[in-house]
Amino acid sequence: MIKSQNLIAGRWHDNPKASTFQTVNPKTNQVLPTSFQEATSEQIHEAVAKAAVVFDRYATTSFSKRVKFLKAIQSELEAIGPKLLKTYQEESALPEGRAQGEFQRTIGQIQSFIALLEEGSFVQAVIHTQGPDLRKMLYPIGPIGVFGASNFPLAFSTAGGDTISAFAAGCPVILKAHPYHAGTSALVAEAIYKALKSSDLPLEIFSHLGGVSHSVGSQLVMHPMLKGVGFTGSFAGGKALHNLAQNREEPIPVFAEMGSINPIFITEKRLQTDENLADTLAQSIVLGSGQFCTNPGMILCCDSSGENHLIKSLRKRFNEFSLAPMVHSNIEKKYLEQLKTLEEKQTLELSKASQSNAALGWVTASDLLKNQNLMEEVFGPFSLLVACKSIEEMTSVAAALPGQLTATLLSHETDHPKLGSLIGKLQNKVGRLLFEGVPTGVAVTQAMQHGGPFPATTDSRFTSVGTDAVYRWLRPITYQDCPNALLPAALQNENPLALNRIVNGQQTQASL
Ligand code: NAP
Repeated sequence: MIKSQNLIAGRWHDNPKASTFQTVNPKTNQVLPTSFQEATSEQIHEAVAKAAVVFDRYATTSFSKRVKFLKAIQSELEAIGPKLLKTYQEESALPEGRAQGEFQRTIGQIQSFIALLEEGSFVQAVIHTQGPDLRKMLYPIGPIGVFGASNFPLAFSTAGGDTISAFAAGCPVILKAHPYHAGTSALVAEAIYKALKSSDLPLEIFSHLGGVSHSVGSQLVMHPMLKGVGFTGSFAGGKALHNLAQNREEPIPVFAEMGSINPIFITEKRLQTDENLADTLAQSIVLGSGQFCTNPGMILCCDSSGENHLIKSLRKRFNEFSLAPMVHSNIEKKYLEQLKTLEEKQTLELSKASQSNAALGWVTASDLLKNQNLMEEVFGPFSLLVACKSIEEMTSVAAALPGQLTATLLSHETDHPKLGSLIGKLQNKVGRLLFEGVPTGVAVTQAMQHGGPFPATTDSRFTSVGTDAVYRWLRPITYQDCPNALLPAALQNENPLALNRIVNGQQTQASL
């Protein structure tokens, strides 16, 4: 049975008077049976207020207790794997391979935060004993609101990177479930609840709120005891929540990952020498029916022949694909509306695939520069090809682009001396710059940067993928002339956690 109730500070609240909503199988349009309850204002308040009460206790729990908790979440998720993936597929229509892959990724993310806590140095302990005794480390910021993402029902949702990084940091989490996969979210919430019960931690550090109206998310962000927000979704949603948070009496950080068109720049020489280019690009554009934040929504290529070989090969390749439905009819509706708007534009040539809703646009770089609204994200299996005359023209487009998660520069060795200005412009625009491959597929490692200048995200200094995601939920604190016994373990003379610390300017694991 999937829980229809909200989990409020460790208790499943049944509210027979609540408004309810159901999820839909996007493949069959069948309405799925569970009627989920919309969270009330009282429940939202209780969830945040009780998380705030237990915050001090959780913030100061040992890393080993947090490790035990994360390991328990992993075990509980593994125990419900088949049931969870069945619900995931029913609610998202994402294929079996993707479901398995996303599940493994979610488990892998949990394991990477376990390793981070076991090693412990992420708290960045710095000790200076000459003059006043100053000892600095990172400390959690407080209860965090996390919004599940529609396009990643597991890896960017209830036990996804935002939630697990916040738990690792020492922050309680109030999760706003995405209404398109409320059942998947409820199953994961139950797994977290069971893990908490076996971990000797306050049950109030996790709440799970359902809701199909913006009101639940807005009230959560506005709650005076909330201290931070993690979000992945639309520009409109992310910006609205960011604005709300900035207009609170106490503004709080909103780490919103929003739209990106992830441009790919292809030099003429590369176009002429890479036989697999059209195939690789086509696969990337339609991967997951185009519902990846790293989907390549713009491809710029130099083709002085005027033959436009690439668009011809891509069109041909597109006609061979049949794609899974999008994760929700609303997302598909928005995608088709955006295509219709593009079709009406004089400057753009649009071609649609014969067996799916995949589409390609074609425009010259000079027309693109005159119509910069063409640089907005079209979320789905779409890419806009931009015909450029030269690397200089590509550089002008790069300079005009809004902030992006990624850009890719596919060139040939002989182009390298001419790429300096283009790389210079792209560095100002992106969080990740690729020189081979395609941007879809985000490796979960510490060196990954999944973020980028606005409007790709609301804070380009942070990443939402990889263990560095933990830094969104931490702030520095210095203890001055604090007696050793009163210091957090990370800063004590004996270095009981065996951390790598900086002591009087030297990196060391030694005790003082
Ligand atoms: P969304 O509309 O941004 O919604 C995501 C979450 O944010 C939902 O839980 C939603 O709450 C909440 N939310 C949105 N606007 C809000 C507001 N003004 N106040 C309070 N809460 C708000 O995204 P979506 O539903 O996942 O998909 C819609 C579109 O977003 C897609 O068509 C696509 O264009 C884009 N998208 C982009 C990415 C990306 O990675 N670039 C990923 C996913 C989606 P409610 O449930 O209450 O509405």
